[in-house]
Amino acid sequence: MTGDAGTGYLRLDDLEVVRVEVEWRPLKGRLPSGASGVSHIVDKYVDRLGAKAKKAGHTLHVERNVRFLEDGALPDKDIETFTWDADYRAINLAWQCKTCNRIGLVRVFSKLNEDVSDAARRLMRSLRDHAEEGKQVWAVYGLICNIPEDFRLEEQFLRSGHIRLSFKRRKKEELHVERIGPASLILKEAERLQGWFEPFFKKALKDYVCVYTDGDIRGHRGFRVEGSPRSLLWRILKPTLSRMRRSVYLKGCVWVCKESNRIFVVRAVSKDRNSTVAEAVAAEVVCHNNE
Ligand SMILES: [Zn+2]
Ligand SMILES: [Zn+2]
Repeated sequence: MTGDAGTGYLRLDDLEVVRVEVEWRPLKGRLPSGASGVSHIVDKYVDRLGAKAKKAGHTLHVERNVRFLEDGALPDKDIETFTWDADYRAINLAWQCKTCNRIGLVRVFSKLNEDVSDAARRLMRSLRDHAEEGKQVWAVYGLICNIPEDFRLEEQFLRSGHIRLSFKRRKKEELHVERIGPASLILKEAERLQGWFEPFFKKALKDYVCVYTDGDIRGHRGFRVEGSPRSLLWRILKPTLSRMRRSVYLKGCVWVCKESNRIFVVRAVSKDRNSTVAEAVAAEVVCHNNE
């Protein structure tokens, strides 16, 4: 993935081929309004595609204005769905959003002998391209969270046993949402959640004196952690640059979701010792189907 909420590109591959590509950007200049605006985007795209195919010696078969989604599937967008076949097939959706004025294109690829229509429909119906109520939905491999829209994605760590999305707000405030599993295996060894958490997050916790409070989070067993900066004296004795930093506070919510067999960790670092962002984001993480 490259880019951000404004302009970007996302690609998903399986072991063999590219499966999905999504591009989006703000509309610059003017388009004819209504559906004709979108068909104008598709015209240009299909022209370029045709030229490329010709160069590569492929025969391209394009079908425009395919009725692929039901009416009103994306109520705030003008859309055109179209398909093309060459040595493989692509189902495409071009859109222009009436709310945020972004334009974009989703492509779902399949081999000629595969039918991926249902999956493509589900994906296209779920398309969201702007924040709602000040929050941006971030979803990756089933980890779904609502992040205040002024946080920007800074880093992503994607392993099957550990997913982390890291965000920053105005360079000073950090937010990390993590999913780690399988919980049954991890907690068999560590016995207690906190007993696992402390060594696992040793590096992130090293500048803080932490207080833990057991509690219920998202209907699951878990705890909250609050970290205050270690005393200045302690830091002066340490030959690190960290003493140059201003005091920041850590807040986190950690819980085990039995249903999905994963551990969830939402933590924030802020100069504001009363920051509630970790709590607010944790309250809306979808850990199993508790949306
Ligand atoms: Zn939009
Ligand atoms: Zn859960």
